[in-house]
Amino acid sequence: MELLQIKQVSREFGGLKAIQDVSFPVRQGSIHGVIGPNGSGKTTLFNVISGYYKPTQGEVWFENKPIHALSPFQVNRAGLARTFQNLRLFKKMTVLENVCAVLDRESGIRIWDYVVAPKRVFRIEKETIRKAEALLEVFDLLEWRDFLAENLPYGVQKRLEIARALATHPKLLLLDEPAAGLNHTETDELARIIRYIRDERGITVLVIEHDMKLMMTICETITVMNEGMVLTEGTPNQVSKNKQVITAYLGG
Ligand code: ADP
Repeated sequence: MELLQIKQVSREFGGLKAIQDVSFPVRQGSIHGVIGPNGSGKTTLFNVISGYYKPTQGEVWFENKPIHALSPFQVNRAGLARTFQNLRLFKKMTVLENVCAVLDRESGIRIWDYVVAPKRVFRIEKETIRKAEALLEVFDLLEWRDFLAENLPYGVQKRLEIARALATHPKLLLLDEPAAGLNHTETDELARIIRYIRDERGITVLVIEHDMKLMMTICETITVMNEGMVLTEGTPNQVSKNKQVITAYLGG
């Protein structure tokens, strides 16, 4: 089944066509990669899917319903969560609090309360803490539980951002360059986490990434973008042998 359908989506910025006529499906249960040179429109596409930008043309459907007119919050509610290239953690909150803030949404506490008065709102339910700790364990974050997000090493911050996205119980997780800035060990750990998310949680993953080795090992399907358009799509093996892809990357 197709969980997400991107249908002839274009987005312009004052005449500049950031993406143009982009169409592809994301199959339920897949790990689907999006690659392409810098400026090829990958992040713009993620911003359209997650409701941050409205498409100039085209539609985005999720579980057979249109979502392109929804706000980012409504898109999240519909079952899509994302991470950002520039991390968006609550820097002055601990690792545990960062996850609890998202989990607590279901219990009616508003995130804004945490931002303006984290100390006052801090009556976290025991059940929320239990769920948060279970998530931290999966992400090897328990040892960092009481550290402020701003004091974490970069690789740990990136893991926390994914843990937080997962805490909203998405059906589809969008990861924007999750391996950027990570060393080899951290990238291997990231591969394990992405596989866990799909295999054990049954969450479909759409991932933008430059690290081709990582993409080759985790993705079933890769969509290649160039100059705002889809250049080709296929298995990692197929796209890595595609002459147009090689040319786009080498700029030949
Ligand atoms: P990628 O993620 O593949 O590097 P982007 O989606 O960031 O590519 O950018 C695609 C094109 O759209 C670039 O030319 C970029 O400058 C332009 N672009 C992206 N966002 C904006 C924006 N908010 N305003 C103007 N131009 C933008």
